[in-house]
Order: sequence, then structure tokens, then C-alpha cells
Amino acid sequence: MRRFKFVRNPEASELGNNVEEFLDWLGGPTCLLLEGADPSRTRALVTLLHGNEPSGTIALYRWLRSGRTPAINIVCIVASVGAAQESPRFSHRMLPRARDLNRCFRPPFEDAQGELAEEILEILRVHSPEAVVDMHNTSGSGPAFGVCTHMDSQHDALVSLFTQRLIVSNLGLGALMELSEESCPTVTVEVGGRLDDEAHELAYEGLCRYFEAETVLSPEVTDWGLELLCDPIRLELRENVTLTYAEEPCDNYDITLRPDIEHHNFGGVTSDTVLGWARLPERQLFSAQDAGGRCAVTSLVRVAEGKIFPAQALKLFMITNNAAIAHSDCLFYAVLDDGSTICA
Ligand SMILES: [Zn+2]
Repeated sequence: MRRFKFVRNPEASELGNNVEEFLDWLGGPTCLLLEGADPSRTRALVTLLHGNEPSGTIALYRWLRSGRTPAINIVCIVASVGAAQESPRFSHRMLPRARDLNRCFRPPFEDAQGELAEEILEILRVHSPEAVVDMHNTSGSGPAFGVCTHMDSQHDALVSLFTQRLIVSNLGLGALMELSEESCPTVTVEVGGRLDDEAHELAYEGLCRYFEAETVLSPEVTDWGLELLCDPIRLELRENVTLTYAEEPCDNYDITLRPDIEHHNFGGVTSDTVLGWARLPERQLFSAQDAGGRCAVTSLVRVAEGKIFPAQALKLFMITNNAAIAHSDCLFYAVLDDGSTICA
């Protein structure tokens, strides 16, 4: 069953007067085909894999309304339109009980989300783009960064269109960027917080560069000097451990994290930084694995006198201050302070 609607070279006037009307015009998963000045090549933009991450859709709407022509053909995939349309708009990551779409890009493609992911892969295969950018927002505020599964000059160049921070990580979670392994350079770009105007602006500026540059895969285009963060380790909660966020330790929870913990995003923390409070030893609360599959909990955090500290000088990122995300995904990612990999 085809889930996607296909639209070729939409008129600026038919898109609606604001991004909410644009969502209604899309009406569901949509593939927009934009013919470029040089139609012999194609690039792909994927966005709204998560319905609560609006920057890519806002940027695309703004660009389409401007009536400009891309340098080469562009295939735009706007995925979770239905989730984004749920009231209030752009608040649902996915529809209730649906799997996270950005964990579905590997077989089996059995449920509705799997089929949607499979169709996205099929669209990309048919158009064989020279590059794929998958644009996201982070749930909390924070700076922009790119993520790719391996690092070379092409991935470096692609990410540099948007940001100077690049996380190299191959966790094999079934994310779209894992496509890099078998097809073309594919990067995830997290343009910043989902509610932040700067994130919307960066998404638009980067999208203009990505759509309008002659070449996007050679490093000289925008060489800002990337900050690399290699093979981060995820700090996860163990089953049945309870977590809350507060200024002081809460008696009813195993772990209390400071509500401003996300302020450490991409900044360095030292072994004296208090991240929160805990009632049990670190290994009973957390799990973490290094690239070799060894337990890395004690390389990341230390519980002493009821307080949680980093085990050593670390750089933390993708820190959540949302307990639901901490439970279903992870609390944060960490690398050593110089950006290199932590080994347990
Ligand atoms: Zn996302």
C-alpha cells in the first residue's frame, strides 16, 4: 500500500498561508519533487520523522514560498505529518502506540511505521540522491549538531552546511543515517531545540545552502573546522528505576537529577559537578556499554554520599530533562572531554 502523496514543483500559492495550513495541505506523508537548474543530479531532504520537531518543515515551507529554484533536483520527504497535525500541532513525536520512525529503517518492516520507513527507503533508492540530509530538533534547548555513522570529507562537508559540531556514532539502532553504509552520504542534522527561533533560522539558512549550492560534498564549501565527538556512550536507566528532576533530592524516587542538567549540553563537566542525587550505587541504577560491549557505568558516573557526579572529566550531550525520554531512550551521551571515545 502506498502511503506517500507525491507532488511535483508545487506552486507557492497552493501551500497555505502559514506552516499549520502547509501541514493540512500535505495531509499525510508527502514526497515533494523539485526540479533543479541542473536536473541531472538529485539531493534528498528528509524531515519530520518526529512529529514534534518542526524546524525542517518550517524551513521547507519558507523556502517553497520564496519561489526559488534549487541548483539540482531535490526530493523532499516530509514523514510524520499525521502526528504533527495532532493538537496541539507539532507536539506528538509519533502517534500513540506507534514505534519511533527513526528506529525503523531496517527489517522487519512489519507494522505501519516499518512500512512507512520502507517506503522512504524505496523513494530514496529510486531517486538515487548524491546526499541525504535528515533534519531534526532536540527536545530541549541546545546548540545544533550533526550525527553520522562514519566520518570522511563528504560527511564533514554536508554537516558543515549547518553546524560545526559532529557526532560520529554507529549504534545500529535502525536510524536513517545508517543508510550511509550502503548508499550515499547521509547525515542527521539536529538544528537545535524544537521551540527555538534560532533553530528554525539555522534550519532555513542551512536548507538554502543545501538546496542552492553547486556542490555540497567537498569540504572547501564551508570549512568551519568541525568539533568531533567520537563514539559516545549512552547512559541508560535500569528497569524499574524511578527518576525525577528537582532542585533537591526527592524521597520517592531512586534518582533526582537537577532540572538545569541540560545546561551542560556540549559543555565540559568535571568529577566535582553535581548532576543530581541517588539512593543506590551507580551500577544498580544505570546501564551503559562501551563499543566493546563492556559495562561502562563507572567510567561515566559515580555516586558518593548520595550525590551523582561524573566519574571523570566528560563532555555530555543530548541530555534530556524529560523523564519519559530518559526512560525510553537514555539520559545523555558522553565522550571524554577531548571528544574521544570512552573505554570501560
Ligand atoms: Zn528527531
